[in-house]
Parts: sequence; structure tokens; C-alpha cells
Amino acid sequence: MLLESLAAGLVALGLLWLVVQPIIAPATESAPVVEPPEPEETARGRALLALKEIEFDRATGKLSDADYAELQARYERAAIATMEGCGKCGGALGEQDLYCGACGARR
Ligand SMILES: [Zn+2]
Repeated sequence: MLLESLAAGLVALGLLWLVVQPIIAPATESAPVVEPPEPEETARGRALLALKEIEFDRATGKLSDADYAELQARYERAAIATMEGCGKCGGALGEQDLYCGACGARR
């Protein structure tokens, strides 16, 4: 019983520390370094990689011509969609943007 109380007290202290610590000692983080995203981290990069992949799969016989045509159309649409602007106001959209910066419309 004493041990359980002690354990519960330690857990409570740990939780309290997690809550209070950022307030009493704010993290001195330096500004995050913004690096250009890797191709596979962007929607366009993933679509283009997928296109290369299905071309390879067709060349090696893992994908039928019909399946290839269907997937190619899908990934090409995805790649083109990443290059288009906002559908509502026509404003420029970054590849990572979910919402338009100009009108707030969802991509
Ligand atoms: Zn817009």
C-alpha cells in the first residue's frame, strides 16, 4: 500500500513536472531550419515517383498494359493537380498547402 502510494505520487510529480516545466523554463529553441522537402515528401514528388515505378513494373511484366494505363492516368492527374492553383480563386498553392492562403479554400 505504501509502495503503491509512493509510485502514484511519483507519477503525479512526473506529470506535474511535464506540465509546469515548459512554463518555468521555456525551451530556448533556435528557429527551425527550413530545408527543401525531399521529392518523396511532396505530393508531386510522390506522384512522379509512382509514375516511374509503374513504368518499371510494366517493363518488367508485373503490370498489364491495361492496369498501367489506368494507374498512369491516375498518377498523372495527381501530379498535375499539385501544379494547379486554388480551384476557387486561382491563387498560387504550395505543394504542401492544404488551404489557399488567399481565400482559405481547402485544396
Ligand atoms: Zn483561393
